[in-house]
Amino acid sequence: MEYITLSNGVKMPILGYGVYQVTPDQCERCVLDALEVGYRSIDTAQSYFNEEQVGSAVQKSGVPRKELFLTTKVWIEHYGYEPAKASVLRSMEKLQTDYLDLVLLHQPFSDTYGAWRALEELYEAGKIRAIGISNFYADRMVDFASFNRIKPMVNQVEAHIFDQQKTAKEWMDKYGVQIEAWAPFGEGRGSIFENPVIADIAAKHRKTPAQVMLRWHIQRGVVVIPKSTHKERMEENFQVFDFALTDEDMLAISALDKGESAFFSHQDPAMVEWFVRMVEERKTHQ
Ligand code: NDP
Repeated sequence: MEYITLSNGVKMPILGYGVYQVTPDQCERCVLDALEVGYRSIDTAQSYFNEEQVGSAVQKSGVPRKELFLTTKVWIEHYGYEPAKASVLRSMEKLQTDYLDLVLLHQPFSDTYGAWRALEELYEAGKIRAIGISNFYADRMVDFASFNRIKPMVNQVEAHIFDQQKTAKEWMDKYGVQIEAWAPFGEGRGSIFENPVIADIAAKHRKTPAQVMLRWHIQRGVVVIPKSTHKERMEENFQVFDFALTDEDMLAISALDKGESAFFSHQDPAMVEWFVRMVEERKTHQ
């Protein structure tokens, strides 16, 4: 495993396993499989509703806690100082751990500053080893990094061959914020696994398209957390440290960038309203 060093000196595996859309009934088995394959970094979130299953898999695995890098994310309805603090403590209980390696603010909406105070406090109390943000694009990231006492150490954003986040990454590099890719395969959209440029590079290296795409992220210095519910794919996605893409390969992949999301824009007001509605609906169901 290769590691990157965050701005505060904490080492983070460059490759982890993500559990978005892994249902609670699959999640324990999937995380156990991932740990058996060799993954040591697991990315969950309060809004994935599977923190308990991640926690029980970690317990059952017998992997020492200090070998693991556990990430969770605070959801919007828990923003503001007090709710964010209480929610992180609840996440720790669900994950059966007394500290977290990384906690992110999941979305750039609502009282992010209040929530950040809570993360700063938990960080300084030694309950969280690194703190960061997610889905903060360059304008919001620069604002947030500038007007807070502690700068985010990580920013997890959509990144894959079709939306490479070149500008966002330049700004993150400038502010010492580590970029982490969510949907490193774009969740398969745009026939990404069948892309002919990737297929040619994969054939040349005797690797699979998935391995080439992960290797491209890693060679750009981007942390990746691919998700799969299939153990054989978890293994495939883990075998990315035994080959290297050439400068020519990297350039050919760079040219595939469309510079726009395969999902939606966090800067689209209609999408912000969608998040607001989701928060309201969840409140009425509680
Ligand atoms: P990914 O880009 O990781 O794609 C996952 C999809 O690719 C699944 O359909 C999976 O299928 C398939 N797949 C995985 N490996 C292979 C392979 N080797 N060959 C062919 N198909 C493969 O999407 P995610 O959205 O899951 O992103 C990864 C992680 O990022 C999430 O799990 C989550 O932790 C995080 N995330 C964070 C977000 C945020 O807002 N901060 C938003 C979205 C994700 P199958 O499972 O059937 O194998």
